[in-house]
Amino acid sequence: MEWDSSDDGLDAFMSSQESESPEPTPTTSKISEHEFSCHCCYDILVNPTTLTCGHNFCRHCLALWWESSHKNECPECREKWEGFPKINILLRDATNKLFSSVVQQRRTEIQANPKISRSLLAFQRYGDNLGRSKTKRSKGAGIFFSGVLTALSCVAVMVLVYHWSAGVDERHDPLISKPVSRWTPEEVLSWLDQLGPWAHLYREPFQQENVNGRLLLMLGEEELLKPPYNIGNQAHQRAVLAELNRIKLLGVKPPQNLWEYKEANAGKSLFLLYALKRSPRLTLFYLYLFDYTETFLPFLHTCCPALTHAERSESIFLNTQLEPSLGQWTEFLIKYLLLPYQLIAEFAWDWLAVHYWTSRFVIVNTVLLSVLEGCALWRLCVGAEIRSLPNKMWSHVWKMLSQGFAFAVLWPFIPQFVCNCLFYWALYLSPIINIDLVVRHLMHPETQAL
Ligand SMILES: [Zn+2]
Ligand SMILES: [Zn+2]
Repeated sequence: MEWDSSDDGLDAFMSSQESESPEPTPTTSKISEHEFSCHCCYDILVNPTTLTCGHNFCRHCLALWWESSHKNECPECREKWEGFPKINILLRDATNKLFSSVVQQRRTEIQANPKISRSLLAFQRYGDNLGRSKTKRSKGAGIFFSGVLTALSCVAVMVLVYHWSAGVDERHDPLISKPVSRWTPEEVLSWLDQLGPWAHLYREPFQQENVNGRLLLMLGEEELLKPPYNIGNQAHQRAVLAELNRIKLLGVKPPQNLWEYKEANAGKSLFLLYALKRSPRLTLFYLYLFDYTETFLPFLHTCCPALTHAERSESIFLNTQLEPSLGQWTEFLIKYLLLPYQLIAEFAWDWLAVHYWTSRFVIVNTVLLSVLEGCALWRLCVGAEIRSLPNKMWSHVWKMLSQGFAFAVLWPFIPQFVCNCLFYWALYLSPIINIDLVVRHLMHPETQAL
């Protein structure tokens, strides 16, 4: 057997020498020629093109077939090919090397044939058009989406303009900026009315006594118990005293809603809006450390209300000043760690009746931000970069601290108009921007950097 095969090889070599081929063909040429032949023309492949089914054809054979059949199908197995078939470079180089003379000869033949050249040109044009329309289509989707975004932004800007023109800022209760000592008796009554329906019981004595701001500040526990006020109810008495102490401390009426809060604490509200959006956990921790009674406790009581109402008094303010129960703390901490944006959404939900649209914007934004946070975490897990999490957290903390410090330093120098713009931007336009971000993250999760 060994002798036979060597004889075959020798024969093949001799025959190739005899035919005076300019180049010695390899000893395995018989098998190779078949392997490297096109199933259209049964000759050596020229510019071999691989289809999605895996079959290879000469490019010009494919072009001729495509032109005559008007179909994107494999001539052999009839499977439809996807996109525009490309030349298989590895196969082309291999055939060029192994059968250079044959390939060279066929190439000159093809170039000389006008019909084939035309077909090849038409096929190439078809491919170019395909690529162009593809990029156009993806661009088209982008244009469509940015169009939707622009429309939404326009709506938001119109809402803002309406807000300003309707004079929302002027509709604030003037008492939030007017010192208590200068309140008129009518203003004292309006303050009393805002304490709650229970306070109506004591409206009459205040009216009869003509209590103005200066007098109100002098009222103490003893005066309230005695006639003409006669606040006998312990809970009511506690509530009035707490509210009295609060206005004594603030010097003005405490804000009752978001706009009044913004008016009274312009810098703080802008800071909270941005910080809660960027880093809710750090911001809540900051509030716990430095703004416990005024902001953190009311926030906690709103998001995680106490189950029992036994200890609750009529004063909303007093209710928010109670020390939270263990259950409330547990609920708060679980949400704080897992879904901090959920806490903000619950806070906004509580204000739905007062701020119809604004609360909805905030809730939508918190949902979007939660999705974005989930996406970021998912990428960390998938990319096995979970080990870099402590580093990332540290750089995040550092960034937030430096930004907070910069804000505190620069805040007094920023004009009120700019602050208003930033405030409304963060409130109404950032949800729209986040919709875009979420869609991009969900559509192309692999291309979005953290
Ligand atoms: Zn062919
Ligand atoms: Zn095929």
